[in-house]
Amino acid sequence: MPSRSSRSSLRTRRRVAVVGAGVSGLTAALRLDLLGHDVEVIEAADTLGGRFGLDKLGDRPVMTGGKNIGRQYHTFRWFTSELGSAAYESFGYNASRIKDGEVLTLDSERRSQTLKNIRRMGSTRDFARMAAMAARIRADRRNRFLGSRYFSGVSRKHDHAPLSAFFGPEMTDMLVRPMVIRNNGAEPDEVYPGTFGTNLSMLMDHYDQLTGGIQPVLDAFAKRVTVRLNTAVEGLRTRDGRITGLRVAEAGGEAEDLDYDGVVLATPAYATAEIVRSARPRLARRLGDVNYFPSTVVLVEYDRDVFTHEVRALAMDDGPCSNAGSYGQEERHIVRYTYSGREGRLTDRGPETIDRLTTETEERLVRHLGAPRAERVALLVKHWPAAYCGYLPYHAEFLAEVREDVAGVAGLELAGDYIQGVSIEACARTGRAAAGRLATHLGTPELTA
Ligand SMILES: Cc1cc2nc3c(=O)[nH]c(=O)nc-3n(C[C@H](O)[C@H](O)[C@H](O)COP(=O)(O)OP(=O)(O)OC[C@H]3O[C@@H](n4cnc5c(N)ncnc54)[C@H](O)[C@@H]3O)c2cc1C
Repeated sequence: MPSRSSRSSLRTRRRVAVVGAGVSGLTAALRLDLLGHDVEVIEAADTLGGRFGLDKLGDRPVMTGGKNIGRQYHTFRWFTSELGSAAYESFGYNASRIKDGEVLTLDSERRSQTLKNIRRMGSTRDFARMAAMAARIRADRRNRFLGSRYFSGVSRKHDHAPLSAFFGPEMTDMLVRPMVIRNNGAEPDEVYPGTFGTNLSMLMDHYDQLTGGIQPVLDAFAKRVTVRLNTAVEGLRTRDGRITGLRVAEAGGEAEDLDYDGVVLATPAYATAEIVRSARPRLARRLGDVNYFPSTVVLVEYDRDVFTHEVRALAMDDGPCSNAGSYGQEERHIVRYTYSGREGRLTDRGPETIDRLTTETEERLVRHLGAPRAERVALLVKHWPAAYCGYLPYHAEFLAEVREDVAGVAGLELAGDYIQGVSIEACARTGRAAAGRLATHLGTPELTA
């Protein structure tokens, strides 16, 4: 049964649906609710949160997906504070690389050491290129996100070849590859220079985590906004170029039609493509061009700390495990092993393979960090077939085409990771912006009542 918002209905309130209960959809729904609309969130899974990836490690609730929140994540922090959960604790950006047997640490709290280490990771030309992009990001927040004027220019000039051709081989291996594997699950030859600003901006932030995790935020959300779980949206209903509703199927049952005045599709590009396919086949085809890459996350709880305060994550490039990191700054006895990038696309995820791979990485941590040998207490495997968006070349042109097509359906708006970037902040921004546009189209209830 959907939970109801307690707010009384106004005559002019419009009934709107937000499809997808990840951060993009949750932010859109909250904004529409605040603007006085009658919002229903429709989610195919049985929980809210999408790629926050709520799960359990033993008895302990954990997040297997996105959980690091930058200090620059203003929209997401607005979202959590509106829902009464504004308590964050510092995590930092800490990713170390091994070069010539030495651990080089990149840490947002130690900027000059980090810069020195980056300088050692490639040629002067590459460092200058990277520094020029960083200066643009620092000068203008919009350059943190896809679609900015500066990075659209980079895209037009350089997207004829992948990112691996933009920087030299040493910088690509040492710095660029761990960044794009971490943020896009992709190799440098699978992403394009025009989207690199989203990666670099992540290195230039300082990270926190929600003290109580995302669950209290989701609980507060569900008290406020109507939510339909276990309900998959199959298609749009339109008449005379405007939205009239959605075709949905609850818990795998018969499809039914629901009436809405407006819809935000806050789903990944491939899922959005399926929903719009019969009403807008050209839009569906274009959305199908967006790349996604898989990832497997293994969380292990140990009987003692594995990482130190100084080194809390290690990026690796010579095996399937691309990154091993502590779960929290003070939770260094829980390690998150991420398998992504070409070698990390695990097809066999059976217990024996996971055990063998985990043992191999544990041995490396002992060797490189002098980490103590620790006993496993609990283990959790989460596989994401489409974990991260890897975008596409000439993203600005793609966005312009998508916008034009969506403008042909009054009352339809899109949000999601393929629009401004994969970060939680970029997703939240698209949700908030889509809600604002839809509200403008529908008219604000308080003003028209
Ligand atoms: C392992 C991992 C770690 C990450 N770490 C970080 C991090 O630390 N910091 C950071 O900023 N970002 C991180 N990210 C990225 C970030 O978490 C994601 O990009 C973001 O959460 C995506 O949110 P979304 O709402 O766009 O999509 P989703 O969270 O995927 O939400 C979309 C929802 O739509 C639902 N849906 C799909 N199709 C339908 C349909 N037809 N009908 C109804 N519902 C449907 C899905 O079930 C899903 O719940 C990480 C991602 C992963 C996978």
